[in-house]
Amino acid sequence: MCGFLVQLENDCAANAWADMSSFLQDPVDSDAILADIRSIVEIESPSRNVAGVNRVLEGIAPFFEGTGAVCERQQTTPTLGDILRVRCDPTRNEPGVLVLSHMDTVHPVGTLASKLAYRREGDRIYGPGIYDMKGGLVLAVAAFRRIAHARRRTPLPITFLFTPDEELSSPATRRVIEREAAGHRYVLVTEPARDGGKIVTARKGVGAFVIRTRGWPAHAGGNPDKGRNAILAMAEITLAIEGLNDRTRGITTNVGLIEGGTARNTVAEDCTIEVDLRFCDRASASEMEAKILALKSSRPDIEITVTGKITRPPFARDRGVDLMFERAAAIAREIGFALESAPLVGGGSDGNFTVEMGIPTPRD
Ligand SMILES: [Zn+2]
Repeated sequence: MCGFLVQLENDCAANAWADMSSFLQDPVDSDAILADIRSIVEIESPSRNVAGVNRVLEGIAPFFEGTGAVCERQQTTPTLGDILRVRCDPTRNEPGVLVLSHMDTVHPVGTLASKLAYRREGDRIYGPGIYDMKGGLVLAVAAFRRIAHARRRTPLPITFLFTPDEELSSPATRRVIEREAAGHRYVLVTEPARDGGKIVTARKGVGAFVIRTRGWPAHAGGNPDKGRNAILAMAEITLAIEGLNDRTRGITTNVGLIEGGTARNTVAEDCTIEVDLRFCDRASASEMEAKILALKSSRPDIEITVTGKITRPPFARDRGVDLMFERAAAIAREIGFALESAPLVGGGSDGNFTVEMGIPTPRD
């Protein structure tokens, strides 16, 4: 967390391009920012908990009071929380900067009361979702509020979009994000920095697949030869998927979930696995998607069905991202620190969608 606080000062200072040096002399009120972070970290908001995600949204909207920004709340689906869109300078219509944050976390309700209470240990603060990404979310808003309260105008208008379902690969908001991003020149994603404060300028794409095998049940003692074991077939398929890993091309596959069978003494009729795929480029995506969808069982009488698709395109570091990173790094040097980018990471984010659209998208 101290990384966040240090970064806040850097974030604020990074706005020096707008000649904001005078107000940057004012000290940053870290305690106030921390109180805001705490206020939304203590609202548990796993993606499927609509009430929790919406309470986070209701906690964020007041952060913009007195800034002149206009908040709009949009519904998504009945099973997911709402979207908060904030136009910081509603009188300006030119393409500007879109700041993307998600309000959901991967932590189930009850985490605060059991494994991960909000707490401070020295210069570190712990709490569910504080790192990914409630801390970054609040810091971005705090940076904007600092500009707004100094009555400065940013060179480009800023829009914030707070989404409810990123941890599910954004099923209800991908189109909204893409539509919004299409009207902007730059996208910043407030996902956490990597080790050493390095920012992410490229990410792998993601695919998700479900594979089912169906055999024939039989008593394992009485009639073993009559059965067709779906688990055995799936074990071979699991090994085949493992064999698709290709580290030299940055391709990873992982069988992360498995379920099957009905009893110890019964030849298993059904088995299901879930498969995760990561890749660096579109060609690998198509190739791997085709390979996984075409998986077959070599065993007779085993039915296999494969469903799934590429859920996030790769976020390749293109010229636009390069230019934006170089600019940010130059500003950082002026301020006195070295901004570095992290090595290619396997985790996807909503930035994968916007880079795919050709909009420069580094994140801090
Ligand atoms: Zn995240």
